[in-house]
Amino acid sequence: MFYRELAELYNSLDSTNSRLKKTYLLAKFIPKIKESDLKPVLLLIQGRVFPEWESKKIGVAGKLVAKSIAKSMGHSESEVIKQFKKTGDLGQVAYNLCEKKQQQTLFSKELTIKEVFETLQKLATHEGIGSQDIKLSNINKLLGQASNLEAKFIVRTVLEDLRIGIAGGTIRDAIAYAFFTTELKYDEEKNNLIYKSDLDINKQKDLIKRSLDLTADLEKVIIHIKSGKPLEEIQLTVGTPCKAMLARKEKTFEEAFKRTNLPCRVEYKYDGFRVQIHKKENKVLLFTRSLEDVTKQFPDAVKSIQENVKSKNCILDSELVGFDSKSQKYLPFQSISQRIRRKYEIEQMSKNFPVEINVFDVIMNEEKILLEEPFTKRLEILQSILTEKEKQIVLAEGKIISSMEEAQEFYEESLKAGNEGIMLKDLKGLYEPGGRVTAWIKFKPVMEELDLVIVGAEWGEGKRSAWLTSFVLACQEDGEYLEIGKVGTGFKEKGEEGVTFEELTKLLEPLIISEKGKEIRVKPQIIIEVHYEEIQKSINYSSGFALRFPRVIRLRPDKEVDDIASVEDVMDLYYSQ
Ligand code: AMP
Repeated sequence: MFYRELAELYNSLDSTNSRLKKTYLLAKFIPKIKESDLKPVLLLIQGRVFPEWESKKIGVAGKLVAKSIAKSMGHSESEVIKQFKKTGDLGQVAYNLCEKKQQQTLFSKELTIKEVFETLQKLATHEGIGSQDIKLSNINKLLGQASNLEAKFIVRTVLEDLRIGIAGGTIRDAIAYAFFTTELKYDEEKNNLIYKSDLDINKQKDLIKRSLDLTADLEKVIIHIKSGKPLEEIQLTVGTPCKAMLARKEKTFEEAFKRTNLPCRVEYKYDGFRVQIHKKENKVLLFTRSLEDVTKQFPDAVKSIQENVKSKNCILDSELVGFDSKSQKYLPFQSISQRIRRKYEIEQMSKNFPVEINVFDVIMNEEKILLEEPFTKRLEILQSILTEKEKQIVLAEGKIISSMEEAQEFYEESLKAGNEGIMLKDLKGLYEPGGRVTAWIKFKPVMEELDLVIVGAEWGEGKRSAWLTSFVLACQEDGEYLEIGKVGTGFKEKGEEGVTFEELTKLLEPLIISEKGKEIRVKPQIIIEVHYEEIQKSINYSSGFALRFPRVIRLRPDKEVDDIASVEDVMDLYYSQ
């Protein structure tokens, strides 16, 4: 497939705000993708070149891209910057400055998807001395061959800022319309989809969602559909991570009990990080909440599982908690978070920062899938397959309660033990991968809390001028980032527990897309947890809301950008105040 075809699709998607029209355009496009191009095209449509569970990023700053546009299109860098200031979009600048209009590419060698995709992936692999030059020459190579439309979207993809407003739900719906309708039209005037289908299209949409929750693999699901096999056949398998079940938040026990019913089980809410454990005979795989494979980083955890999980074939859900090897005291998440990204001296790290696995669920045991089993049944199975060993692998601390007093007592006990709060779980609740369900309620002391992404920042003054000291926060809606305020407090001094200006500056510098005076814009990648006093309506920020007295609590490298608060979440919080 030629990259031109994808660039044309991007362009059409970019020119409409209608989610239904976007769904239609995708539904018409997806069946045309050859099987060998499926993986790259599906990623590129989402503005990525690596799947979400790979921590790799393209990591090219706006300055380098501006340089490349100037060089490959025969303009001065100052001209590129001037145009950028006008448009705020380097992709548009590339489009304007590129002389090869689209039709002319017919006479030159066309860029293929494979070529663009592989070159973009290569950008991420170059690090260290000379890497900037290699990156530059790779981007030049692509832009040199590209038409204006192609250049626009190559630049936006390099900057990891595609701006075509495609969320996961749109792609899922598009797949349903693409493969389960016999006729499909879009009525521009009524903003409506007109289709014929022998099947219940909403049921197919649900089945696609379920398949993706179980496999997190779009390519696999599409190939399955194309082969004519029913979606119901897609099942959970040991070795392929499924999406994690998520919890809802409630502010009072009364509200929580309405969801979980009484009696319910309460558990410590550990301040660690989520790990899905897959075990097949002696082979163990560990996946984070964003489905990144972190098996290699945790040989100690793998050993604890091999030695203490009796089941041959199983999938478990757990929270890994760090503790101090000397004092044996539990440590907050930040202390062990460095183990997630660690590539070297892993054995030493596991001695310095050991972890305890707190298992709280089992979703497959031997050949049996347990998603539809009630929680009590799953718990029974879990107890029967786990040999608990303190500071290695244990069942999450918990008990069944039937009153508010008992909940309160357990909550206080949990906080005293250094945990974040408690989880309340419906005894009859099923395990729903990918669902933010009412069967699990989280209950924490600070209610006013949001996970947001940083989209901009400002350099400090005086002594702090080497650091970024104020940060623009955004929530999301359908893949777009909408601002909700700025934060500059809650930061710690070096050596103290928490986020420092220096640390955050280092993380954001490689992500800079543009600079204007003291202000910078960055790629939306760094997720941060903030606390605040109140949400107010605001015309100053694009979300329509602003946070009063926001304060930084911690970085959330364990979360994906899709996990940050949505405008809807913010609105719910606003109205519940
Ligand atoms: P939050 O990250 O605030 O949305 O809270 C949900 C997270 O709490 C889960 O994704 C787990 O990583 C974590 N957690 C800690 N203890 C438990 C527990 N006992 N049961 C379920 N999740 C837990």
